[in-house]
Amino acid sequence: MSISQLARTIKESPTLKLNQTAARLKDKGEPIIHLGGGEPKSKAPIDAVVNCATQLNTGDVKYAPADGLPDLKKAIIRYMEDHYHHSPAPHNVVVSSGAKQSIMVLLYAILEPKEEVVFPAPYWVSYPEMVKLAGGVPVVVTPEDGSFQPKVEEIAEVIGPYTKAVILNSPNNPCGVMYSSDFVAEVVELCEKKGLYLILDDLYNRLVFDGKTPPNPYDFVRDKSDHSRLAVVQGVSKMYAMTGFRIGWAILNSELAEAMTNIQSHQTSGPATPSQWAAVGALNGMQSTIESLRLTLENNRNVMVQRLKAFEGIKVTKPDGTFYCFPDFRAYEKDSQRLAQFLLEKVRVVTVPGKEFGMEGHLRLSFCGTLKDCTEGVERIQWALDPEAPNEIYLGERKLVRDWK
Ligand code: PMP
Repeated sequence: MSISQLARTIKESPTLKLNQTAARLKDKGEPIIHLGGGEPKSKAPIDAVVNCATQLNTGDVKYAPADGLPDLKKAIIRYMEDHYHHSPAPHNVVVSSGAKQSIMVLLYAILEPKEEVVFPAPYWVSYPEMVKLAGGVPVVVTPEDGSFQPKVEEIAEVIGPYTKAVILNSPNNPCGVMYSSDFVAEVVELCEKKGLYLILDDLYNRLVFDGKTPPNPYDFVRDKSDHSRLAVVQGVSKMYAMTGFRIGWAILNSELAEAMTNIQSHQTSGPATPSQWAAVGALNGMQSTIESLRLTLENNRNVMVQRLKAFEGIKVTKPDGTFYCFPDFRAYEKDSQRLAQFLLEKVRVVTVPGKEFGMEGHLRLSFCGTLKDCTEGVERIQWALDPEAPNEIYLGERKLVRDWK
């Protein structure tokens, strides 16, 4: 068997693998608590389902244009006007099969071999692999002060002749932190000065708590022409709980949009037409589902953070948004992969090792499940790690006796 050099450098998606492990154990009747998930448990908005079903009923399901259906682009433009006060032309919009594909195709469109893409840690698991797939080199910036808020100087320091782009994801998967307005403004300015692409992965920016509002990058750009190197990536996956539909989009200059469209036209053609109909329904329909999801997540976050704060030795930063929390478990175990494996084996709680996000010693805990999952999940973790905890615990009907120290 001969596998390419490139393929050999690409790791399996650890989060997708965890989903499979959790599902397999659950099917076997194991009392699994899945704190490793990356999708809200709510259903797709009814307007998405109805619009998709109505058009599907005609039986007329054909190829869509490679960059997306005109009706969807229209809905996206309105979304951008409402939420970014920015009005792109249809030729500045590229619809893809999920934000994942938007970022991947974007990187294919801009990177020469060995060019560098800079992003802060912790980062979304796929960035390094995507950059490598597109022939580039990932460059990670880890905030020196141990926080999740990098400084613009730290980004500037690693920029060199091979740097092509910077990626910011805020609020951030896995730590939930939303970067400050000042920081976003400074990075926009830095990228404009250096002629770099700035890719803003805004997938979670409607799921923000405590009455905060995400910084709008278009408030800071000086180049408002069609040569701007700012690219905003969005999608329906998280805000509408439509992960399985696989629809994302990018807003960018028309030259880049055309290059991405050409690549996509050979790679996948346009995204699945029924999924695009569903996205049109979601974007044009009632928007109250986003607020009710946001409120549920905010409540889950409050409960999870409160429990974690009562957990001696754990350092937790309160997430500003998303549905992830990224506590520091180094007081108990420095190797996050070993810790995640231990928690799965001993107390059947699925977590994601911080190492996958470029930050050892942390675990990503999702609060997108039920409130009971959040409380019981943290309770089980605490029981497994705290040597002072009682010797027994019940996982459902099953009594578990501690056989470790
Ligand atoms: N960016 C981030 C930060 C994400 O967390 C995810 C999904 N986990 C994506 C992009 C990809 O989203 P999609 O489902 O739209 O491909």
